[in-house]
Amino acid sequence: MSSGIKIQSAMEASAAAESPSAAASAAESRRVAGAAERSLAARKAAAVRAAAAQGLVTDVSPVVGFVDLAGIAASQAELKRAFEVTSAPVLHTFAAKASSLVPVLRLFAEAGMGCEAASPGELAQALAAGFSPEHIVLDSPTKTRSELRDALRLGVAVNADNFAELERIHALLAELGLSEAIRSRAALGLRINPQVGAGSIEAMSTASARSKFGVPLRDEGGRQAVLAAFDRYPWLSRLHVHVGSQGCPLELIAAGVRQVYELAEQINASAATRRVISIDIGGGLPVNFADDRVSPTFAEYVETLRRTVPGLFDGRYALVTEFGRALSAKNGFTLARVEYAKQVADRRVALTHAGAQVATRTVFMPESWPLRVSPHAPDGEPKHGPACEQDIAGPCCFAGDLVAAGRELARLDEGDLVVLHDTGGYFFTATWTYNSLPRPAVYGFEVAADGSVRFSLLRRRQTLEELVAEAGGDPASVYALTSEHPLA
Ligand SMILES: *Cc1c(COP(=O)(O)O)cnc(C)c1O
Repeated sequence: MSSGIKIQSAMEASAAAESPSAAASAAESRRVAGAAERSLAARKAAAVRAAAAQGLVTDVSPVVGFVDLAGIAASQAELKRAFEVTSAPVLHTFAAKASSLVPVLRLFAEAGMGCEAASPGELAQALAAGFSPEHIVLDSPTKTRSELRDALRLGVAVNADNFAELERIHALLAELGLSEAIRSRAALGLRINPQVGAGSIEAMSTASARSKFGVPLRDEGGRQAVLAAFDRYPWLSRLHVHVGSQGCPLELIAAGVRQVYELAEQINASAATRRVISIDIGGGLPVNFADDRVSPTFAEYVETLRRTVPGLFDGRYALVTEFGRALSAKNGFTLARVEYAKQVADRRVALTHAGAQVATRTVFMPESWPLRVSPHAPDGEPKHGPACEQDIAGPCCFAGDLVAAGRELARLDEGDLVVLHDTGGYFFTATWTYNSLPRPAVYGFEVAADGSVRFSLLRRRQTLEELVAEAGGDPASVYALTSEHPLA
């Protein structure tokens, strides 16, 4: 499958040809983002029509995820270009948890990016996708000794969450005899919580005063303890910070990076040799879920960083980034069939196949994670007509299973389709197993110049056999469902 999906777009080629003039780059990036969002919307519309025409939404597969492969290529090209303001090496890693489908990870690997993994599962997926170990960063907050041993043996970069983890790494390096070689093999770092405050979603805020992540820099003695750690562990060479994400303004994220940059400067000034070689600034760029505009852009974030932490880009520090949502969310959507539509008292309810199993955060925290929903006819054409207030319900057996409540949309009827927009990050690979609803199929798509759409299967739909087997049953006992699509 990998050979069929290449992450080279016209956009990337034109990006390479353009002058890197810093002054023009923000305006230019807005123009490119404008063009990109038009084509993003156009590609999405073409994909919905083609998915309907090619019969990808069936009785067996009534909810499906889609990834815009050209969109992924464009987003990663935008990211690379935005950071071309430093002469130092920059390793852009994709945060696997945003979309840990191996073919999607492989797109990033083939584009020369790295991968941020936060569990043994994500590490295994990253290796399966072809990332070389030195392009992988392991960030789990709860690494066991075995996980750490494997990571050190593999030579992946590791960011420790706390001082106890540093001590474990120290012991393991000695046990493995790696102490001498390790600095040339892989960067080992320490995650700092700059305690710059929370964004608008507490559960998504990693840098509040009481966040669970990293070493709390502003707690009493926090700074001294970090300096002492650099004294004690000669193999430490990186500081890591990740301020995010959805709901955090750029200034807050940049303020966190600034804290860590200043800490690096302090460590390097106080030691005989330069100890902090690289700074991993994490990800955390929020995404606009309100319409098809890409906002904020990577270039706008870099501009904010340049204003807030000018020294970061003067070439003295190698940089690592770990974006997830901003690279993936707008490059995917969910398509679901309206199975029934009915009137209940004063409510109009569309019973669809997209609910809490595929949009868990949206269903349980609708204020924080609202999704745009658009109505389409069975042939995939946008549905027009007088808007009426409707609830878009899912298939789960609890009353609160709504992906949208009281939404003004053209009236949905049986057989119509709904698009849930911007679900390319943190949806397809964050499914919920409630009601034993299967993980849906995910297709990549590419729109040719003549408007034709080619789909490629990125992940098969979970089968009834797999559901029974995972529940401890005999898969051979399963009856067959009809109308399977040949691609699935
Ligand atoms: C989740 C996570 C990321 C990615 O965050 P986004 O908001 O998706 O960019 C990066 N780094 C770490 C440590 C994370 O936990």
